[in-house]
Amino acid sequence: MGTDCLFCKIVAGEIPAERVAESELAFAFRDVNPQAPTHVLVVPKRHEPDIGSLAAADPAAAVAVLDLARHIADEENGGSYRLVFNTGADAQQTVFHCHGHVIAGRSLTWPPG
Ligand code: 5GP
Ligand code: ZN
Repeated sequence: MGTDCLFCKIVAGEIPAERVAESELAFAFRDVNPQAPTHVLVVPKRHEPDIGSLAAADPAAAVAVLDLARHIADEENGGSYRLVFNTGADAQQTVFHCHGHVIAGRSLTWPPG
């Protein structure tokens, strides 16, 4: 576990969250501040700070994150969704445990800003 990592604690059940789905290597829960009808965070169970680090360290876990994201989007919105990995402080990453935002259920604009 990452020292004092919020999302490691959610995966471990030490901090409550609204669990949506889970696989062997990935875990999904609802964002506490949703930006769309579906706003789910998909995280690897192992601690890595971002998706690039995860892909390098554990490709199977990176694929597991993508698979779980697709599963949730299929279940909640027929497979139409945005999957966002904010990476680095300038890109508005605030929690440094890799997470993909599955955002769906409304008409989305582009560019994201
Ligand atoms: P980031 O800005 O790092 O891409 O995304 C972090 C996300 O985590 C934000 O959308 C924020 O609302 C969400 N978040 C922060 N703290 C908690 C929490 O304690 N529980 C849940 N479910 N989501 C959280
Ligand atoms: Zn962590």
